[in-house]
Amino acid sequence: MAIIIPTIELEIIKKHVAAIFPYEACGGLLGRLEGENKIVVKAYPAKNRFGKIAWDSFEIEPKDMLEMDKISRKENLEILGFYHSHPNHPAIPSNFDINASWPYYSYVILSVKGNSPENVADIKSYLIPNKNSAPVAEDVEIT
Ligand SMILES: [Zn+2]
Repeated sequence: MAIIIPTIELEIIKKHVAAIFPYEACGGLLGRLEGENKIVVKAYPAKNRFGKIAWDSFEIEPKDMLEMDKISRKENLEILGFYHSHPNHPAIPSNFDINASWPYYSYVILSVKGNSPENVADIKSYLIPNKNSAPVAEDVEIT
């Protein structure tokens, strides 16, 4: 079981989280299921409703959620999960992340330490099957 991210989409994600630093960036991951794996086809940089410098809380703007839904239906994709950054913090789900999670989705977290894509220090993905147990790490494969 893995989430598979093409390099070109990962570059879009890295650029986004670096550009927003030290704010927390978030976005959607659209793609397809193939057996146990989630194949990302399109990264969708979104706006974080929490316009403050933080590392532990994000909420995607409702209009971005609607747009992602529209693109998914048009291009026969589905929302596989979401990415967000932890500026100057490790790529580990915060309590906020766990409480705001849904069981089905992958949560890709990028630890970022500056304004350049090279400042992305770590990328991890988690499944959060329920809010009362520990998040489960999911493999990230870059293709
Ligand atoms: Zn987080």
